[in-house]
Amino acid sequence: MEIEAIYKGHIYPDKELDRAEGEAIETLKKSSQEPIPDPDRWLEEEVERNVLLTSIDSILSWARRNSLWPVICFPACCAFEFIAANASRFDLSRFGMEILRASPRQADLMITAGTLTWKMAPQVKRIYEQMPEPKWVIAMGACGISGGIFRSSYNVVPGYNRIIPVDVYVPGCPPRPEALIHGIRMLQYKISKRKNF
Ligand code: SF4
Repeated sequence: MEIEAIYKGHIYPDKELDRAEGEAIETLKKSSQEPIPDPDRWLEEEVERNVLLTSIDSILSWARRNSLWPVICFPACCAFEFIAANASRFDLSRFGMEILRASPRQADLMITAGTLTWKMAPQVKRIYEQMPEPKWVIAMGACGISGGIFRSSYNVVPGYNRIIPVDVYVPGCPPRPEALIHGIRMLQYKISKRKNF
């Protein structure tokens, strides 16, 4: 008898159980007056906020101008200013172009950082020709533009534009990294105006 009494003391009587269940249902009813919003509704809102209409031409130019990959072409002292432009103080990677390509097939920009001799000219021309289209050239420094102080020398090419087309000229001997970055920005502007089709 005693054990039965103890056992009963820990079990809800049927009436109490019904009441507890009823209370739980009523509470749920009160808090369920409105349908729960569609959990995917945010997705539609996000899409609406993030849809951007543009032309293929603009998006291609935008991608190209912000992901220029320069081929390595450093025949002389201007190279150090180019290297400085790549280092942390000037940080060329801000423009999406920190990757210097050793292979011309994966590059679309040639920055001519140094004096070019006629002996080197065929190799530089070949590297340019191996770069896929579209491609661009920045003539960096007085030597890149016109041969600079070596212009009258028998062995110096008086400007890269004698052997390849140049898009932007950056003067100086050597140009500072800021000047090179300005030239790159000018090239980016030129690319943004380019018609792709
Ligand atoms: S422009 Fe001046 S710094 Fe640049 S490669 Fe010529 S001599 Fe050297």
